[in-house]
Amino acid sequence: MEQQYQYITLQTGSLPLAPNGKLDFSIKHKCSSLLLWPDKEEPSSKNTILTDPCFTPKGLEIAQEKLESYQFPLDDIQYIFITHGHRDHLPTFILDKAKVKFIKDEPTPLSGITKVPCVGHAPDLESLTFYSNKSESIWIVGDAILNMEWLKAWGYYWPNRYSSKDIIKTWKSVAKIVANADIVIPGHGEAITITARLIQELIDLFPFAKHADKCFSVVPILKKRLEVLKRQEQV
Ligand SMILES: [Zn+2]
Repeated sequence: MEQQYQYITLQTGSLPLAPNGKLDFSIKHKCSSLLLWPDKEEPSSKNTILTDPCFTPKGLEIAQEKLESYQFPLDDIQYIFITHGHRDHLPTFILDKAKVKFIKDEPTPLSGITKVPCVGHAPDLESLTFYSNKSESIWIVGDAILNMEWLKAWGYYWPNRYSSKDIIKTWKSVAKIVANADIVIPGHGEAITITARLIQELIDLFPFAKHADKCFSVVPILKKRLEVLKRQEQV
């Protein structure tokens, strides 16, 4: 059986900007950061992966507190995965450069962890995927999906001024993610559980997405997943 992983959220992502352009200044701009390690093992520098460690000062404190109970200090981290090179996902704390390895361009050091290209939002964007200790397929997707609100709005991060090609690529990546994941960790929001109801909503709203008329592969992929989920949810 494939190696399974346990994971904790060190920082829950959030975004002040809504897809409709409304800004809520009470919400911080933070990315999601997780730590994962093999199930039935203690976390150590040899078996953990830290993702998108762009902590706010307060976020870093909270992350360190969360790690205290595991007796695993953040300074011991060796493997770091960064979903994409945007500034708001890059490490904000001092790293021991001699020790740290960025697993973006190297094979993943741990078995059962896969990197999947999910371009559109950024040309270098990759998701990190693995199975949890409940056999759920977990996808850490960076900004390929910003959060539930942006997902349901079929919103791409328009302040970056994407070309139509990039927008279409974004939709294909979204389809790939929601067709395969059980749980999505988006770049700037809480974990999203993929259900038949959510997929149905995405199918219904896709015709209103920008350039949807030039992107024929998305709906069939979603419909296929919908059938599988409906069968599973009936059991
Ligand atoms: Zn980004």
